[in-house]
Amino acid sequence: MTRLVFLGPPGAGKGTQAKQFSVLCAVPHISTGDILRSAVSQGTELGKKAQLYMNAGELVPDVLILDLIRERLSSPDVSPGWLLDGFPRNVEQAIFLDTLLEEIGQPFECVVNLDVPDEVLVSRLVQRGLDEGRADDTEGTIRNRLEVYRQRTEPLIDFYRSRQQLVSIDGNQPIEVVTAELNKIVS
Ligand code: AMP
Repeated sequence: MTRLVFLGPPGAGKGTQAKQFSVLCAVPHISTGDILRSAVSQGTELGKKAQLYMNAGELVPDVLILDLIRERLSSPDVSPGWLLDGFPRNVEQAIFLDTLLEEIGQPFECVVNLDVPDEVLVSRLVQRGLDEGRADDTEGTIRNRLEVYRQRTEPLIDFYRSRQQLVSIDGNQPIEVVTAELNKIVS
């Protein structure tokens, strides 16, 4: 049973690692960013509401995210486990997740924190903006996303560390080295 939460700033490699690891462990990769981007491209009500926040590099309001997570973690395909990427993003979401997981009987193994210096994050995100055309990977938005991360998401490091649920990995290493460290932690 593999249930992991990936934590880290934008550009730390959460998506890359979670995607690969989900294939390896045969469990769904649940990325709130991917879910939101797909809602935006399909023009759904959620997408219309979320788009402005995303393009500004702000967090989408919890009221739009919490039901979505509840629904996703209640789907039959998560019975072998899951990898959460991009959720929780603030303390309120972390508390919600605790309550939800308790309710549905799905405790996680640990929170994997990917540690990467700011200057590396910025250059990775600028490059991703060029490669993938992501609307929020532009220079101004990147700075705001890092700021939002510091203010809203980084406190989760202490939140989980104080409960001995945090494992940190140096994310400023080749992708396969990070994956190997991840493998060691989980096996
Ligand atoms: P990501 O792909 O995880 O970097 O997410 C891209 C954007 O989607 C973020 O900058 C937020 O605007 C939004 N987003 C993703 N996950 C969440 C979340 N858990 N809570 C609020 N906003 C989110």
